[in-house]
Amino acid sequence: MSRIIASAAIRGAHKYVKEAEEKLNKLMEEKGPEEKVAFPNTAYYLPLIYALLGIEVKTLKDTQKALGQARSLLPPLVAEKLWLPYLGNALDAGIATLIAQEIIEALKYLTGDEPKGIWLGFTDDAILRTQGIKLVDGRMPGFAACLGALPTNEEAVRLARALQEKSILVFMASSSNGRSMAEQLAEEGIEMNWDNFLVPYGKDTSAAIHALNFSARAAMTFGGIKPGNLEKAREILLYNKERVHAFGLALGTDPEVNGTGQLITDEKYATAAGAINFGFPVLSDVGIPQILPSGICTYEHVVSNIPLDKIVSKAVEVRDIKIKVTEIPIPVPYGAGFEGERVRKEQMQIEFGGKRTTAFELLRGKPMEEVEDGKIEIIGPEVDEVEEGGALPLGVLVKVAGRKFQEDFETVLERRIHEFISCANGIFHMGQRAIAWIRISKEAFQKGFRLKHLGEILIAQIHDEYSAIVDKVQVKIITDEEKMKEPLEEARKIYHQRDERIGGMTDEDVDTFYSCILCQSYAPDHVCIVTPQRLGLCGAYTWLDCKASHQLNPRGPNEPVKKGKCLDEVKGQWEGVNDYLKLKSHGNLERFNAYSMIEDPMTSCGCFECITVILPETNGVMIVNREFTGMTPVGMTFSTMAGQVGGGIQTPGFIGMGKMYITSEKFISADGGIKRVVWMPKGLKEEIKEKLEKRLAEIGEPELMDKIATEEDATASDELVKFLQAKGHPASSMPPMM
Ligand code: SF4
Ligand code: ZN
Repeated sequence: MSRIIASAAIRGAHKYVKEAEEKLNKLMEEKGPEEKVAFPNTAYYLPLIYALLGIEVKTLKDTQKALGQARSLLPPLVAEKLWLPYLGNALDAGIATLIAQEIIEALKYLTGDEPKGIWLGFTDDAILRTQGIKLVDGRMPGFAACLGALPTNEEAVRLARALQEKSILVFMASSSNGRSMAEQLAEEGIEMNWDNFLVPYGKDTSAAIHALNFSARAAMTFGGIKPGNLEKAREILLYNKERVHAFGLALGTDPEVNGTGQLITDEKYATAAGAINFGFPVLSDVGIPQILPSGICTYEHVVSNIPLDKIVSKAVEVRDIKIKVTEIPIPVPYGAGFEGERVRKEQMQIEFGGKRTTAFELLRGKPMEEVEDGKIEIIGPEVDEVEEGGALPLGVLVKVAGRKFQEDFETVLERRIHEFISCANGIFHMGQRAIAWIRISKEAFQKGFRLKHLGEILIAQIHDEYSAIVDKVQVKIITDEEKMKEPLEEARKIYHQRDERIGGMTDEDVDTFYSCILCQSYAPDHVCIVTPQRLGLCGAYTWLDCKASHQLNPRGPNEPVKKGKCLDEVKGQWEGVNDYLKLKSHGNLERFNAYSMIEDPMTSCGCFECITVILPETNGVMIVNREFTGMTPVGMTFSTMAGQVGGGIQTPGFIGMGKMYITSEKFISADGGIKRVVWMPKGLKEEIKEKLEKRLAEIGEPELMDKIATEEDATASDELVKFLQAKGHPASSMPPMM
């Protein structure tokens, strides 16, 4: 271990602990020990401290306790020349640094000094959950914490793009020579937010703590690790080393330390020492001392002097990040990092669909001889025949052929069109079927993006992901209003037929359900049993999707589950399902009822779209969706509840579920069904309005629509009870739920 790094890191740690103590003492004097301390919207207190020390920091007094532990971890200051053969001291200094940094950043929220403007500050639990999924399912192979700035703005943009293209999340903090990478990107007009994988945390070096408290929470949320003692802290760090493929980039030099022969500040060394505890190596474009032998990190700890154009590939190698590259012949960068990117009106060259024209997409399986692989036809005007900011109608017709292709797979592949197209930089895609909406940005247009490139993307991606069932792909793109009419009518007919076929399928129609165990990577005993009338709780996998996925990849996360002997028709319990569950939950679960949330309900992993919770005082249930951040009548927000029901355990009275399950005939049918619902957020009610109205009409209770309260009617339990009584909600006269 380099002694320079160790002594600098230890000095940095001492500075941070001192700074935190000074700030804390001042606030203690001003506000007293009981003053509240918190980051916004998290159930994890100060997450890093909670993870590592098990302390639930709620007040200044608790903060003091945590800080005391940081001080006790501080190794004595050492002279520059002292030989330190082990990482041990520097690692302790690293942990002390992280604790102090988290306190410094948390106190900013108390004094109104939290990151503002382009800086996003603390990441709340809602974002953690949606982004965590990407870490788990491989859409996001890892993250880079970038500290400092690049020599020029151009290089900053290039680095950001290189990371985005590999779908690596980019966290930015700190500065070098007074500049920061995020400011450089902002000057170049680049949008920075969670959707496009660019996250500016704050300009202070201590703001880097937000990247680590994000990872610490990932371990607690997705790894289901409950903190409390040293052993658990170690587990959380190990989880990060193994699952969260992250690394730090120390960019640029700090002139103020030049005189000491040191290229970057003590504070940065201390932060790097903290990151190494998580197994996150640090790479630099400048000549800071290296720490090459591996130990804590998978390979090297600190690698320096890397040319900027090589730094991303080096990081990928050092951190052992698996990246799948698909070469697509298009003139813009392509990768999951661009998936959530929007193209605003002012940035737009042209749009299709939305409010201005009709756009539709249809994918069909055809006999081999009817498909010419790789062919792209354009019928109608090209993008450059329309004025800037204009619109065209659009029909995207994809034909695929493959010996193993089945008609049922059409919808599965068609739904992927959204994701495939969104991943191109500068192309925005929303919706599907005949409500598609696509925008091409001016920038992408200037780089040469044209209609045929939509075809190139689809052909390349379908071949890449579905090679097991698809041999040939052909795309036709129509932008001529007249010539679009017939195919559009045909498409509508097919959409309708599909709905009839799938919508009409019941659990009784099939003898086989499908499992999904994708989420076991973070909730080890979780098993989703997906039936025709109950989709996976993340909302992403229907029975048909799982069936197709099993065909594509028989050893993948979706397996057929024979129902076997029916043990309870009402509750939805089968012998075959129980046996499967026992096996896949490693003996931790005995049985499962598909239609009850009270008795042996399905487990919840963490990525459910909604939570349904019993409200005993109403004799009914409330449903809250992930997007709703407000308070609910059960006295908890979605994120607090999610923290309690997730992790792959059965929690009677609580179930995580997909939105589409609400209007299924089998929605908690053993517990009374849809008539039990007494509350849901207005946004959710609006979103599922059509289906909900239809379902309520089916059971002969159309007026129930207005009896289901929203946050506008009640957010507390007593208010809700009053509302329900006034409206005459039927739940109160139903048999008791438990
Ligand atoms: Fe996870 Fe269930 Fe969705 Fe599969 S279906 S990804 S196990 S939540
Ligand atoms: Zn899940």
